[in-house]
This record gives sequence, C-alpha cells and structure tokens, in this order.
Amino acid sequence: MSEKVIILGGGVAGMRAAVALNDLGVASVLIEKGPQLGGRVRNYDTIFPSFHSGKELVARLESQVAQAPLVRVLYEETVDRVEGDAPRFTATLGKERSSMEAGAILIATGFDPFDASQQEEYGYGIYKNVVTGTELEQLLDPEGPNGGEIRKPSDGRKARRVAIVFCVGSRSEKLGHNYCSRVCCSYSTKQAIEIKERQPDTSVVCFYIDVRTYGRGFEEMYRRAQEMGVVYVRGRVAECGMLPNGDITVRAENTLLGKPMQGVFDLVSLSHGMTPCLDAPRIARMLDIELAHDGFPLARDSEGYPCETTRDGVFAAGAAIGLKPIADCIADGDAAAARITAFLRNSPERPQ
Ligand code: SF4
Repeated sequence: MSEKVIILGGGVAGMRAAVALNDLGVASVLIEKGPQLGGRVRNYDTIFPSFHSGKELVARLESQVAQAPLVRVLYEETVDRVEGDAPRFTATLGKERSSMEAGAILIATGFDPFDASQQEEYGYGIYKNVVTGTELEQLLDPEGPNGGEIRKPSDGRKARRVAIVFCVGSRSEKLGHNYCSRVCCSYSTKQAIEIKERQPDTSVVCFYIDVRTYGRGFEEMYRRAQEMGVVYVRGRVAECGMLPNGDITVRAENTLLGKPMQGVFDLVSLSHGMTPCLDAPRIARMLDIELAHDGFPLARDSEGYPCETTRDGVFAAGAAIGLKPIADCIADGDAAAARITAFLRNSPERPQ
C-alpha cells in the first residue's frame, strides 16, 4: 500500500489537507495547475465575516506547506490519466510525462465563477460600468488598479451611486443553476460595508431575492451594513441599460411594495455565483466518479462521509464538492485528511 496522496488543486482546501496529512504522518503531492498556490483566495483583499486579508491567509498556509517535510508541490502541472485502484493508483502527469503511485486522491479543484455575460439583460461585457463581484473586489483592493477607491471604469470618476445585484447566475432554472451559491449574499455585503467605510457619501443599493447570510457572524455583518446606510431592496432586477453619459439604469420590481422601480447608478456590480470547476467533467471521467445533478462530485454518503466520492480512495474537499465559505473549505481540508488517513490505514470505521 502506498501512503502517498495526490492532491489535485493548490487552493486553501488542498493546502490545508496537505498540511494536515503531514501532521498525521502521511506524505502528499500537491499538484497545482497554476504558477502559485492559494487559488482564488490569493486575490481577495478581505474575506468575510472577519475582514481579514485573503492574501495573508494564503501566505500563512504557504508557509505551513513550505515547513511540511512530507508535502511536495508541483506547479503548472496536471494529472492526465489515472489507472489502477486504491490503494495503488498510478497517475500520469501531463508536464513531466512521468508516473506516480498514490494510495488515495483528493480532488480540491475549487470552483469557477459564473460567466455573467450569459445573463445578457444585465449588459456585462457590453456596458463598462457593469462589473462582477470579483472585479469589484479588485477595485476595493488598496493594491488594485485604483488604490482601493471605487471609480467608474468608463471615465475614472469616483462612483457615488453603486448598485449590487444579487443572485446572478444562481437559483435560475433557465440557466440550469437551480442552486444557491451560498456565499454571494455575504461577500457582497462585505463589499458594501467596505464601500461605505471608504466613501461614506457613496450610496449603495443591494437588489436581492432573499438575503442568505446564514453563517456565524454573517447576520451581524448584514445588520452592520444596514446600520451604515446600505439599502437592501427586495426584487429581482429585470434589466440594466446605459445612458449616453455611461450611467447605468437598473429596472426592477420591488416585490415588497409590488411596484416597479428604476434607479440610475455610476457602477453596478453583479454578485455572480459559482459553478463546478470547468475541469470537473474531465476529472470525473478520469477518476471514474459520479457527478451529482448540479455538476459537483456526488458524495458517497452526504451525511456520513461528505468528503468521500462514489469511488474507493477518491476524496473531495472544499468548493470542489459544493460551494461554501473559505473557513468551511479549510475545515474540509482537515476533514478529508483525517478520512484519507483512516482509509490508508484501513481503519475499522472505513465504510464498506
Ligand atoms: Fe443569491 Fe445570496 Fe444565494 Fe448568492 S448566496 S445565490 S446572492 S441568495
């Protein structure tokens, strides 16, 4: 039996799993397709609900990985083929064209953001002053293009009226994404607070269907936003349009008042949801695991063993197996490491 674990994906869940495996005495190879670790969190100026730096979190995990003697990291590398069964998988790597034995494989490939241009009615990709939540995060970054000031992409002027449209690409039968992305209400509320902190005279209006700030500290963040003057309007946005001066009109139905409404804004941010990582179908075929109806890997037993896929020895953690906040992704990394260790050591708890 090989005690080596292949971890696909060097985001926060994969990094944490590698460190936890190391602590448990299990060697792993962290395979990252990009040039650096940290996944998407690396680009987050702040994370919710703590408002701590995403970059610092990644730096902390990177340092733990660097100090873990049983972790080897391969950058700009992919696994192209997997043969055999646990606990003797043989993986073929794409760049090195070499093969590697592993006792178990962990999928920690994260998510991909919904492509907001698919919801054409919002004008993303057509109107310069319609941006995504990811782009707003970059605008809020003091190391970003505007030094953290919220300016209109069209002319660089300070944005005095900002709208945030929730549920873009989520909860939609038409788009085939019936699920709630779980984190966009909260990341958008965090961004609304940051705008009000930096530019108190900027109005921020959030158009929502429901506000789902369910986690510990999330509801408090939502209240804080309202106390700071962020306005929440219940209503699905029908469309955005552009005025000749570049301002954006937002047309919605206020479903609490039962009345149509229209507003004019300098900047509109689309709180785009998340989808399974684009590579999920290929990885599922390669590893011979089942995907659920939403495109994420199906858990063998979603209550009992949520990190285990439908195939022995293949595990999944973090957003790769369902959208969740960063703290939950990190907890997943720990949980997966524990289950993998039990699996490799043939724990009597291992499900048959
Ligand atoms: Fe919509 Fe909020 Fe769910 Fe995101 S978390 S899909 S914005 S309800």
